[in-house]
Amino acid sequence: MIKKIAIVGGGTAGWLTANHLGQSLLGTDIEITLVESPTIPSIGVGEGTVPSIRNSLQKFGISETDFIRECDVTFKQSIKFVNWLDKHKHGENFYHHLFDHPHIFGEELTDQWLSSDRHQQYADNVSKQAICCEKMRAPKSISTPEFVGLNGYAYHFDAKKFASFLMNHAQKTFAIQHLYAEIIDVNCDQDGFVTHLIDNEKNELSFDFIIDCSGFSAAILGEKLNVDFIDRSNELLTDTAITLQVPTSVDDEIPPYTIATAHQAGWIWDIALTERRGVGFVYSSKHMSEEQAKKKLHHYLGNKFTHLKPRKIPIKVGRREKFWHKNCVAIGLSQGFVEPLEATAILITDFSGNLLSKRFPRNKEDIDIIATDFNKQVEYVWDSTFDFIKLHYFISDRDDSLFWVDNKQPSTLSEKLKSNVLKWQSFSPIREDFDSKFDLFDLENYLYVLFGMNYLPKTEQLSEQASLLAQQQVDLKKRRVEQLLIELPSHRGLINKIAKFGLQKL
Ligand SMILES: Cc1cc2nc3c(=O)[nH]c(=O)nc-3n(C[C@H](O)[C@H](O)[C@H](O)COP(=O)(O)OP(=O)(O)OC[C@H]3O[C@@H](n4cnc5c(N)ncnc54)[C@H](O)[C@@H]3O)c2cc1C
Repeated sequence: MIKKIAIVGGGTAGWLTANHLGQSLLGTDIEITLVESPTIPSIGVGEGTVPSIRNSLQKFGISETDFIRECDVTFKQSIKFVNWLDKHKHGENFYHHLFDHPHIFGEELTDQWLSSDRHQQYADNVSKQAICCEKMRAPKSISTPEFVGLNGYAYHFDAKKFASFLMNHAQKTFAIQHLYAEIIDVNCDQDGFVTHLIDNEKNELSFDFIIDCSGFSAAILGEKLNVDFIDRSNELLTDTAITLQVPTSVDDEIPPYTIATAHQAGWIWDIALTERRGVGFVYSSKHMSEEQAKKKLHHYLGNKFTHLKPRKIPIKVGRREKFWHKNCVAIGLSQGFVEPLEATAILITDFSGNLLSKRFPRNKEDIDIIATDFNKQVEYVWDSTFDFIKLHYFISDRDDSLFWVDNKQPSTLSEKLKSNVLKWQSFSPIREDFDSKFDLFDLENYLYVLFGMNYLPKTEQLSEQASLLAQQQVDLKKRRVEQLLIELPSHRGLINKIAKFGLQKL
């Protein structure tokens, strides 16, 4: 019987997994202990999310008000991509990858945009959200219940505060135990199943099941059980980040989106929290030196850069060959990492934690069949996520540096992405192009990115009936936008109100 679970690692992945398992195993006789090194710090970055995180927080029984107050949370409704197209051809340029579905008002708006002269951006044309973002509005008002939005949203938060908020919740609500110990070795039985974790004081800790959330080191699955790492840095070229925290004033406006500004060898993230910005310069070390990167970051931040301490973080791009081996499952950075664009890591962590919690094995004999499914599904998630991120670099028309040129080498694309981009040169993407429910990024995400970046199919004239429908949708959207601009408070205004009054419980 599986009765004692160890989660090794107390970063975002460890505590998210603890909440998933704690919630699903509540009331059973299974005991969960999170074991965390007192000396190895968690990575401390990862402050952008996607909307599915709301489902998990709600499932854990977390109060959205407490979460917002305690983790310096701001709302994220979009990623605003700046200068991902050639400035010489398009001037300074941007597009929004919104969290609202592009077909809220109907599919005809997309067809109408494609067959028009496209004087308006795609996101503006199909959604009510782009204008709300540009006007710095919150996605809800103080009277909208917790976890409900008038526009789609996720969050930005302080990564360290988020992990400790999840820890407190897991301990209080699900009785998860917490132990400080650095694991340096394991004992296995004759079948290769881990029986003990061994810490640096030679204590042997007995467990039936191990979840490796130890970050990039993959201390158990990678280092002790020797599951290979598949390096994909030849496909996705950004391998380094320089990060900074920039203080802001409590009166500054808060953009309700992540800003992702492309540069000659990668891109810069800019995430506004309540009293600081988290800024990260992501680049390919083969295409730019650290010195150049710091100069560019200085240029981006101006005088603010001078008094700040930049931190360099090497990025390990790739994934484990498998994620579940015998009685050990990796979740978080120990599974793999793409790069920070589109905030995919916490999404895949959350997905994996949820998947494991839905069908947690009670006996050693049950493991094989569940592990096979888990490995297949999580592998699909990783590979389709690699494709989605690669798409951003491949379809850009920038060729102002070797980085952008190298990104367009066909050898850096998977066969599936190669065939999709070829297809989408002629045909608009359709739901059926995304054939699995494990496509965490599907039609709506691809529409915003492809059309935001002017990667357009051949188009035909709209039929009379479709034109009529599109016009109705335009009118409906216009009315909804007018209403929202009255109803929605400023982003900063809502954050201040939540601090004072809280949101309504559902
Ligand atoms: C530059 C950068 C930017 C990112 N931006 C985003 C983003 O915007 N959005 C997003 O979704 N994700 C982002 N990520 C990913 C995000 O940071 C991670 O998904 C998230 O923080 C989870 O990390 P983790 O818990 O797996 O690892 P870590 O935070 O590294 O935690 C590892 C834990 O394991 C413990 N540990 C390690 N070894 C041992 C051992 N031997 N014994 C005991 N304990 C051990 C450590 O003490 C620590 O508690 C980013 C990552 C990078 C590198």
